[in-house]
Amino acid sequence: MLQNIRVVLVNTSHPGNIGGAARAMKNMGLSRLVLVDPQDFPSSEATARASGATDILGSVQVVGTLEEALVGCSVALGTSARERHIPWPLLDPRECATTCLQHIQQESEVALVFGREYAGLTNEELQRCHFHVHIPSDPAFSSLNLAAAVQVLSYEVRMAWLQAQGQPTKMSKVEPVSLDEQQVTADELELFYGHLESTLVQIGFLDPQNPRHLMSRLRRLYGRSGISKLEMNILRGVLTETQKVVRGEPHKRRKEDV
Ligand code: SAH
Repeated sequence: MLQNIRVVLVNTSHPGNIGGAARAMKNMGLSRLVLVDPQDFPSSEATARASGATDILGSVQVVGTLEEALVGCSVALGTSARERHIPWPLLDPRECATTCLQHIQQESEVALVFGREYAGLTNEELQRCHFHVHIPSDPAFSSLNLAAAVQVLSYEVRMAWLQAQGQPTKMSKVEPVSLDEQQVTADELELFYGHLESTLVQIGFLDPQNPRHLMSRLRRLYGRSGISKLEMNILRGVLTETQKVVRGEPHKRRKEDV
C-alpha cells in the first residue's frame, strides 16, 4: 500500500539531501522517490547520505517538470515552511498522513511534494497541489532541512499506516526474556505473603494476637507494585537472611560486601 505514496523533490540543489530523504523514506517503509530536475544527481554524496537506502536511489524516477512527477496521482500535498498569500486547504503533518492513508486505501496514488533548499516551492507549484502541509515549527526559525522535513512526514505516514493495519507502534518482545521482565504470579505472591508474615512475627513487628490491618496494607502495597520474578527473589532473599539473623545463625556475606 505504501508504494502508492511517492515523495517528489523539486529542483534539489544538494545531492546529500536526496540521499538523506531516501534514507528517511526507507526507514519509514516508503520506496518511491521522484526527482524533478535535480541539480546534481546521481552523486556519490547522495549515495553516502542514503546509507543503506541505495535501492531507493537506484529506482529513482527523474523527470523534468512537476506535472510529469504528478502523473497518475489523485492527490498532491505540497509542503511549505512559510505562510503563502493565497489561502489554500492547509493540513498539519498528522492530517496529511490521514489524507494519504484515505487515498491509498482506495488504491489511489498520492504525492508528497517538497521544495528547493533555498526557495521552497513556487506559488505556481504549490497551486498544483490539492493541499498544503506545514510542519508546525517555531515561526522564528521555521524552515527544516529538506531531508528532515521528508522524515517528519514519512514518520507520520508510518504511524497512521501502522494504526490502520492494527500493528503495534511500540517495540514488543514475543516472549519475556529475563526474570526481570516476567510478572510474578498470584501463587508466588501468596508464598511471599506467608514468608513475610512469619518473618514479621519472628522479628516482633507483627503481633499474631493483634495483627490489625498490617498484612492487608502490605498486600495492597506489594499488589500495586507490579513485582517481577527477579524482584520477588530479592525480597524472598531479604526475608530468609532476616530469619537467619533472628535465629542467630551465621549468614554468608557476599564477597563484594566485605
Ligand atoms: N527557504 C525556503 C525553505 C525551504 S526548506 C522557504 O522559505 O520556503 C526546503 C523544503 O523543506 C521546503 O520546500 C519544504 O518542502 C520542506 N520544509 C522545510 N520546513 C518545512 C516546514 N516547516 N513545513 C513543511 N515543509 C517544510
